[in-house]
Amino acid sequence: MTIKRAAVIGSGVMGSGIAAHFANAGIPVVLLDIPAKEGDDRSAIAKGALQKLLKADPAPFMHPKNAKLVTPGNLEDDLHLLADVDWIVEAIVENPAVKADLYKRIDPVRKDGSVVSSNTSTIPLGVLVEGQSESFQRDFMITHFFNPPRYMRLLEIVGGEKTRGHALAAVADVCDRQLGKGVVRCKDTPGFIANRIGVYWIQTAINAAVDLGLTVEEADAVVGRPMGIPKTGVFGLVDLVGLDLMPHIAKSLLATLPENDAYRSAFREHPVITRMIAEGYTGRKGKGGFYRLN
Ligand code: NAD
Repeated sequence: MTIKRAAVIGSGVMGSGIAAHFANAGIPVVLLDIPAKEGDDRSAIAKGALQKLLKADPAPFMHPKNAKLVTPGNLEDDLHLLADVDWIVEAIVENPAVKADLYKRIDPVRKDGSVVSSNTSTIPLGVLVEGQSESFQRDFMITHFFNPPRYMRLLEIVGGEKTRGHALAAVADVCDRQLGKGVVRCKDTPGFIANRIGVYWIQTAINAAVDLGLTVEEADAVVGRPMGIPKTGVFGLVDLVGLDLMPHIAKSLLATLPENDAYRSAFREHPVITRMIAEGYTGRKGKGGFYRLN
C-alpha cells in the first residue's frame, strides 16, 4: 500500500498543520472543513487556514512552492474528493459523537481499502469505531500528531482489534520515511502514552498555580524550563494547544479512565479555564491566553 494522495478533515490548529506537513513532504492533500457561513466563499474555512499557514510567523509552516499541493474545500460540496485519496486524517473537534457522524458520512464515499485515521488526543479507538462498518474498522487507526506537526517528531499510532496489520505498517512507514516522525505504537488506552502523562502534568500545574496564588511565570519557573519545555513553558503550551481543547480532553479522560484511577481528580476542568474560554481567551487562536494577547 502506498500513500500517493491524502486528505485532512478539519482545518483548525492541527488539521492545517498536518496538511501543510504532507504538502511540504510532497504528498498532495485535500483539506476539508465544514462549510463557511452563508454568503462566504464556499471553501472559505480551509482556504483561510491555508493562507494563514503561508503567512505563519515566525515559523514558515508551509513552503509557498508547496501550497499548490493543497486543495481546500468543504464537506458539503467536496466530499467526492475523498474517493481519490489513500489516507484520510480526521482532525476535527475532540467530541466522539461529532467524529462518529463524520465517519458515517465519509465511509460510503472513500476509496476501498483507504486508511482513515483520527488525530484524537484522548479518545480510545474502541469508542471511535463503535457502530461503524466492518470495513471501516479494518481500515481505521489513530495517528496522533503533536503540535506543531511540522516540528514535533513524535507520532503515536494506535491500532484496534480489527485494524489491518498491513495498513498499520504502511502508515507507520510513511510517517517514518516521508514525514520524518519517530513513530511509537501505543495500546488503546485513555490518552495513550503522551497525553496520559502530559495532560496530568498540565492540569496539575494549572491547579497548583491557582491554589497557591502563583503567577504563570512563577509556576513555569518550576514546571516549564526545568521539566523540558524551555520555549513556551507549560502555560504557553496550553496557549499553543488551545484552551478550548482542555475541557474536551478532561471530559474524554474522565469518561474513559477507570473509577479507581489514582489520578482522575487532577483531570477535572478548572474554573479558570472555563472562564477564560467564555471570555474568548482560547490561546493563540483566540484573543490570547495565559501569556500571549493577540
Ligand atoms: P480546532 O478547534 O483548532 O479545529 C477543529 C476544526 O474542526 C475546526 O476547523 C472546525 O471548523 C472543524 N469542525 C468542527 N466540527 C466539525 C464537523 N462536524 N465536521 C468537520 N469539521 C468540523 O481543533 P484542533 O486543536 O486542531 O484539534 C483537532 C483534533 O486534534 C482533536 O481531536 C484534538 O484532540 C487533536 N489534537 C489537538 C492538538 C492541539 O495541540 N491542539 C494536539 C494533538 C491532537
